[in-house]
Amino acid sequence: MGNFFYRKYSEYLKEVYGEKVYKIPVNLPVLCPNRVEGSGPCAFCGDVATGFESLSNQLSVSRQIQTNMEYIGKRYKAEKFIVYFQNFTNTYMPLEEFETYMNQADLPNVAGISVSTRPDCIRAEYLDVLDNIRKEKGFDITVELGLQTVNYKVLNKINRMHTLGEYIDAHLMVKKYGFKVCTHMMLNLPGTDIDDAIEGAKILSAMKTDFVKLHSLYILKGTPFEKDYLSGDLEVCSFEEYTERVIAFLEHLDPDTVVERLFGRAPKEKSVFENWGHSWRKLQGILEQKMFEEGSFQGKQYNYLNGKAVKKFFQND
Ligand code: SF4
Repeated sequence: MGNFFYRKYSEYLKEVYGEKVYKIPVNLPVLCPNRVEGSGPCAFCGDVATGFESLSNQLSVSRQIQTNMEYIGKRYKAEKFIVYFQNFTNTYMPLEEFETYMNQADLPNVAGISVSTRPDCIRAEYLDVLDNIRKEKGFDITVELGLQTVNYKVLNKINRMHTLGEYIDAHLMVKKYGFKVCTHMMLNLPGTDIDDAIEGAKILSAMKTDFVKLHSLYILKGTPFEKDYLSGDLEVCSFEEYTERVIAFLEHLDPDTVVERLFGRAPKEKSVFENWGHSWRKLQGILEQKMFEEGSFQGKQYNYLNGKAVKKFFQND
């Protein structure tokens, strides 16, 4: 582990590709079935979902890729990229459209494709499309699944319209194809506690998720959570509590799992609460310092899989 505390994505990319690689977001003109056919968005999700940093979905895929490559390439001196279909549910469209969009990522200097979707929107035909692209173009394929919490009662309360079962099923389907899985989690959703964070790490480790992205809860304007937050019905846990949950999560996480991020990011003007009023970089530094002081590291308590859990019954042997 290059970084002693946890396995960082940037270091993983350098190990795999031998050079700096950046993910570039592409915004497709798609929505999410929750909004179109369901009972509305998840309680935390704003109008643009996670597309704060994306270009307009009216621009072609190649235009978005090229513009971002130019900007990010110059800024971070990167020459290789992963195209990240980020916003909303990128498998919620007719199959032919999906195939066309995915093939449009075939540009010089693209090493892979990452497709973000919901656990209940995975179908074999769509994975077949990705499989063909991998075979034809040699791309690495990742499917990003929003789970947020393993507490299925909280998933119901926040209107996810899927629970843990669909996530497990989707994960198994994606893994059958040999693709990588990135799981998105929020460790401080209202109604969850540190035990949910630990159980989350255990389930993700047992599922062998390849990457994990943690999003600290932010409260966006115009969302159901905003109403609850302003009326006092929703309280965001303290930063100290959040760091304790993240550390407990990381300590129980398989040390091989790659950590893409530890904090959420939302524009100030669109939110009424975001990262306790501090930059995520500053908070990440504080969290890493705490891990250092406590002798904490990813996988410190990873002792419960592959038969190891039984050891607690034989402590005196
Ligand atoms: S599934 Fe994702 S895009 Fe859809 S409402 Fe929930 S957070 Fe937003």
